[in-house]
Amino acid sequence: MKVAGAVALAGAIGGCAAVPRSKVAFDDIPRMSLTHLPTACYRMENLTKLVGGPDLFIKRDDVMELAHGGNKTRKLEYALAEALNRKSGAIVTQGGLQSNHVRQTCSGAAKVGLECHVILSNPVPEMKAELMGSGNYLMDQLLGAHIYFADDGRGPVVEKVLADLTSAGRNPYNIPAGASNGIGSLGYMNAARELIGQWQEMAIRPSHIFTATGSCGTQAGLLMGLRYFGNTDTAVVGISVSARRDRLETRTREVLNMICDETGIAKNFIKDDDIYVNDEYIGEGYGRPTDAGIAAIRTVGANEGVILDPVYTGKCMSAMLDLLQRRILDNPRDVVFLHTGGAPAIHPYADFFRS
Ligand SMILES: *Cc1c(COP(=O)(O)O)cnc(C)c1O
Repeated sequence: MKVAGAVALAGAIGGCAAVPRSKVAFDDIPRMSLTHLPTACYRMENLTKLVGGPDLFIKRDDVMELAHGGNKTRKLEYALAEALNRKSGAIVTQGGLQSNHVRQTCSGAAKVGLECHVILSNPVPEMKAELMGSGNYLMDQLLGAHIYFADDGRGPVVEKVLADLTSAGRNPYNIPAGASNGIGSLGYMNAARELIGQWQEMAIRPSHIFTATGSCGTQAGLLMGLRYFGNTDTAVVGISVSARRDRLETRTREVLNMICDETGIAKNFIKDDDIYVNDEYIGEGYGRPTDAGIAAIRTVGANEGVILDPVYTGKCMSAMLDLLQRRILDNPRDVVFLHTGGAPAIHPYADFFRS
């Protein structure tokens, strides 16, 4: 198996052009603060010992202020700024019944005083009672959202809700699933700049950063941000929680291009061999826990006092531990785990933790 690493990537990155002059300075793009930043980044002492090296670090994007936070909060700092600039009267978004993105969007909309309309579908039909009984879905209700169900496909319902709000004069602002467009993904360029500063302070030079990937805005923004702000040698490893590698690598390229459209960065700035997704830890599919993911949640809970989730970060952690233990990563030096949030979902999935 080929895993992108510092050595494998050196040629590709060394060959990339100097940062092109962009039509917009990054800091001129409107962003609104929705949580106090930076989030913490620190060494996981016990997990490092357990694995026997290299040094393992964690970036705590699970600790934020929008109703338990997570990676979507950074994306919403750009998306909601755009909605307010456009004088929108309502936010529309979509996701699964236990979508962390939807929960954070409901929270952000409430915070900035906008109505929030959310279109939900059920990705795991046999778990309907559990998925509707607690966790993110329960929080959506507490956050005052208008909820619509669309198990036969969210697209047409989203269109209908947007049309109805438009004819009512509400000028709705539509945020795509996961906020993974050119605007939302800027949140992870911002996170990348934050990380570069923290790594300098800690005097580390990570060889790899791991993130769970689904709609690919996090991976695209992180990769673009690292390279744009001057990091040439940290490989971004996306661990798929849903689709096959080819599809997510293609999708990551599409999101990178959307970021280029927003910022004016040249489309060839990120080379194809700098985009890497691993799809070997999905298990039976999106929203379906794996035994290794559940075990990783227990390991990190008991050894680091950190709660991961069964849909995203547990699978990503199981991948990181497995690739390290099997010595498959190229020259791992300091390895960073991006905790993208999601812990509210442990409640609907509680049955998977009974042993
Ligand atoms: C949405 C989400 C991801 C995936 O991020 P994308 O930008 O959609 O790829 C990872 N982890 C958690 C907890 C999420 O909610």
